[in-house]
Amino acid sequence: MIPAREALDRLQEGNRRFASGARSRDTLTSRPRPDELVGGQTPSAVILGCSDSRVPVEIIFDQDLGDLFVIRVAGNIVAPSQIGSVEFATSWFGTRLIVVLGHSRCGAVQATLEDLQRSTRSDSRNQRSIVERISPSVAELLETELKHDPDALLHHSVRANVRASVNQLRHGSEILEQLIEKEGLLVVGAEYSLETGLVDFFDGMPEAEA
Ligand SMILES: [Zn+2]
Repeated sequence: MIPAREALDRLQEGNRRFASGARSRDTLTSRPRPDELVGGQTPSAVILGCSDSRVPVEIIFDQDLGDLFVIRVAGNIVAPSQIGSVEFATSWFGTRLIVVLGHSRCGAVQATLEDLQRSTRSDSRNQRSIVERISPSVAELLETELKHDPDALLHHSVRANVRASVNQLRHGSEILEQLIEKEGLLVVGAEYSLETGLVDFFDGMPEAEA
């Protein structure tokens, strides 16, 4: 089992390699062959990310086969099947770090803001099921001065949506609550910048050790 703090270090180091254009890890060490992993997996982290094609999780963290247990859904929302997937990874593989990963200029969050402002609205029940999960966390931002600044509004909305998903994972499952309380499971929120390639871990980070 890989402790949460060590798993976080791996992600932060990998993202620094990616963002700086450094040689990726698989050029420095040999990549595992697929058949070497047939016997099982011990992913160091669960990542709940957005489906956006510009945010491929293994690439932006410079990770390899077997390293990450990834759930991707537009707007990195939390519905029962996402909680169930996280439970699989934490219960079966002993993974002790969960990262909710939003990103700048998220189209699902933008669509939700437009829906709330009544400028566009999808008739698809399926798309609405995503928008309705994002709406509660961003609706109150539309009551603030941010409503006059579309870029700032989207930026704050992305982060509010990440925080909401973090909160739902922390409190949406007895299994996860127990693991947080007794087994050092850590749930953190982060935002990937399309502009810089860097991931900012902005929510729920443990205090740095002295
Ligand atoms: Zn997105």
